[in-house]
Amino acid sequence: MHVPVIMYHSIAPKEKTIYNSWLTTDLKIFEKQLEYLKKKGYKSINLQDLYNYKFKNQKIPKKSIILTFDDGYLDNYVFAYSLLKKYGFQATIFINPNFVENAKKRENFENIKFDLRKIKDLEYIGYLNWEELLEMENSGIMDIQSHSLSHTFYFKSDWVVDILTEKNIKDYYWFFWNSSTDKKEAIHWMGKKDFSSFLKGYHGYPIFEFGNSLGIIKFVPNEKIIRLSKNLTKNKDFNKKEVINKLNSYRLNKGILETKEESNNRYNAELIDSKKVIEKKLNKKVSFLCWPCGSFNKLAEKIANKNYLMYTKNERSGFNFSFNTRKDKRKIIHRCNDGHVFNNFFSIIGFKITLFCHRNYKHIYARFLYLSYLSIRSVYKQIEIFMIK
Ligand SMILES: [Zn+2]
Repeated sequence: MHVPVIMYHSIAPKEKTIYNSWLTTDLKIFEKQLEYLKKKGYKSINLQDLYNYKFKNQKIPKKSIILTFDDGYLDNYVFAYSLLKKYGFQATIFINPNFVENAKKRENFENIKFDLRKIKDLEYIGYLNWEELLEMENSGIMDIQSHSLSHTFYFKSDWVVDILTEKNIKDYYWFFWNSSTDKKEAIHWMGKKDFSSFLKGYHGYPIFEFGNSLGIIKFVPNEKIIRLSKNLTKNKDFNKKEVINKLNSYRLNKGILETKEESNNRYNAELIDSKKVIEKKLNKKVSFLCWPCGSFNKLAEKIANKNYLMYTKNERSGFNFSFNTRKDKRKIIHRCNDGHVFNNFFSIIGFKITLFCHRNYKHIYARFLYLSYLSIRSVYKQIEIFMIK
């Protein structure tokens, strides 16, 4: 049996969404999907059920499905939780303890009796707090699991790829998360248009090649290269390309890579501390991990194997051609293409196609469908380019 595991991030009214709206599945579309699942007789199970099915020969309902939400957005409490309750489904939220907010408990969709006209009174941009997480966990509707501690990025080599300015500061929000954890609170950056207050003292700072915290060895630049970069960018009209080339051509020691011990400690904190914090705060066992941004290296995998029963894996293409079956004895949770790529674009049809492929068809059919989608899209793009010309 194939068990589809659907990945969502944020659920909100499309008009006003979180900082990057492509992560948001429209509230109405999400409700339509739940209606569809209910009508078709799907039963939601959790990851422990999937594990028991794969490894302990336990039975699960014939039309089982798993719904998951990444990152721990506040709208998961405000909208998703209320709607799941309404339709009788359960789901999993993968959170990063570093992002959990210090805020009062917010009202949710159920509190306003699902009245769409009253949505404007709800606060839903930001991250969840522990009180909301505990309520959801205790309800049995949401199963809270780990998405690592920080979900951040770090420099990974001494190769300069950009220079920090007013124009690109929004692209490097993680740079400020790293400089102080209080900046991770959504009120400081999410939904903000003006990031200029973050730039104080950082204008002209070199941005080195970077990567996901669990996929790299961290590089820490030294003062000398930072000073050089700031000096070269003092003039407001500096030529960025020239500065980057100049910085890269300097033959000097630009910083240091973390030691083996340091990266070991950092990886352990990301994977084990996150688990411990959630277990303590919510008084539960955390056994499942979702890789932040889907990336991980050998060291991360080794620690995850020791400390978690299973972890997610996304295919590069964005499509997932692997399935959760009893035959596949790896500790991997294969997830279907998520709401934001497909469901918003094709509305409910995309969701039905995804489910259909994942329940009934073999890899080859899914691949064929994906290739057709790509070719249609490229033809569409060509037409678009032609029209602009
Ligand atoms: Zn994430």
